[in-house]
Amino acid sequence: MATPTFRFDPVEMPPEAKEIRQEVRAFIKEHEHLMGFSRSSFNRDFSRAMGQKGWIGMTWPKQYGGHERSSFERYVVIEEMLVAGAPLSAHYTGDRQSGPNLLRFGTEEQKNHFLPRIAAGELTFCIGMSEPNSGSDLAGTRTRAVKVDGGYKINGTKLWTSNAHRADYAILFCKMSSDGKEEPDRHAGATQFLLDLKAPGIDIRPVINLLGEHHFNEIFLTDVFVPDNRLLGKEGNGWNQVTSELSFERSAPDRFLVLFQMLREMLRMAGPTPDKATAAALGKLISQLATLRSMSISIAGMLQEGLNPNSESAVVKDLGTRYEQDIPVVARQLFPTEPELEAIDVYTSMIARSTMNAPRFSIQGGTREILRGIIARGLGLR
Ligand SMILES: Cc1cc2nc3c(=O)[nH]c(=O)nc-3n(C[C@H](O)[C@H](O)[C@H](O)COP(=O)(O)OP(=O)(O)OC[C@H]3O[C@@H](n4cnc5c(N)ncnc54)[C@H](O)[C@@H]3O)c2cc1C
Repeated sequence: MATPTFRFDPVEMPPEAKEIRQEVRAFIKEHEHLMGFSRSSFNRDFSRAMGQKGWIGMTWPKQYGGHERSSFERYVVIEEMLVAGAPLSAHYTGDRQSGPNLLRFGTEEQKNHFLPRIAAGELTFCIGMSEPNSGSDLAGTRTRAVKVDGGYKINGTKLWTSNAHRADYAILFCKMSSDGKEEPDRHAGATQFLLDLKAPGIDIRPVINLLGEHHFNEIFLTDVFVPDNRLLGKEGNGWNQVTSELSFERSAPDRFLVLFQMLREMLRMAGPTPDKATAAALGKLISQLATLRSMSISIAGMLQEGLNPNSESAVVKDLGTRYEQDIPVVARQLFPTEPELEAIDVYTSMIARSTMNAPRFSIQGGTREILRGIIARGLGLR
């Protein structure tokens, strides 16, 4: 048997991907006043404007509001938006993973109901996976669903749910109640639901992050009723579905471009004639970025071919988050300053923001250790 290996074929962007780049840049210029430090700002109007351009759900079938464009064109749109710090948060999760998951596992009615609204930038989704005692170990979920007349009754708690306070729906991961009977395996009964966050019995409370911002939440579910037609996929197939959702999450090119503006600021500070040490340090960051980008475009190529680049995505996410965490460290060495969030000087506030943001990169979407486990499995080492 051949030894498993990674596949990072060099890929040349097709002409249509080059064309769309100019269009996206013009759009960004038009919306310059909305650009910020990173993509995390939430702006429904901006998402609707992107929806009108046909830049959400770009690769989905037209029949469901998609645009049947290539993975490369999608890559270019996301890349340009990330680099500019566009406010993508209102549609990003729906475009990246909830929509593709619905496309794969949803009923006809669900696809017709949700996908065109996501593609129009009108519906915000969030990710209901983690819990107080179940993050990396998703199979340890304690949230339980019980079958009742016409639907399901759900009880439990979700934690770290980004944007739940602003979202319309969550894809909720839980298990069917086993009525106290021992479960045959840890993945048994796992199930996903399309949870309307306005449903009675849902209490969403803020969790304030290091920056003092309200980004994620704790969700308490008490006897929440979800109708039969909002079961996603099949009862008990949730493990298969959630791993598919996570591979959509990890294949996006957003894991090494979040601090691009910090890098640009460092180049500005270095000026046109930096000393040798500064040039070498910045040159290293730029060449690493070029390599990550080639690897990420190669993943877009595999998605275009209909392949499932699970291990390759884990490699890019792991290397990409390491890279993002290095940027503020190198910045502090080259251009030391006392970080201050509210500073008027752009660099001083950027360094504070990026230093406080850095720990999350290697936690969200699967921690470094978990990704390395996936990579080892992909290489047949475990
Ligand atoms: C900014 C941010 C946004 C997030 N948004 C969301 C969201 O929208 N929805 C959502 O559901 N979750 C979200 N999360 C949660 C995130 O997915 C979890 O924090 C992550 O999966 C880790 O789980 P945990 O916090 O329970 O840590 P734990 O799983 O308890 O891990 C603690 C440490 O132990 C290590 N570890 C755990 N198991 C193993 C193992 N088997 N082998 C080796 N090491 C191991 C981990 O790598 C980590 O270092 C978000 C997190 C962050 C930081």
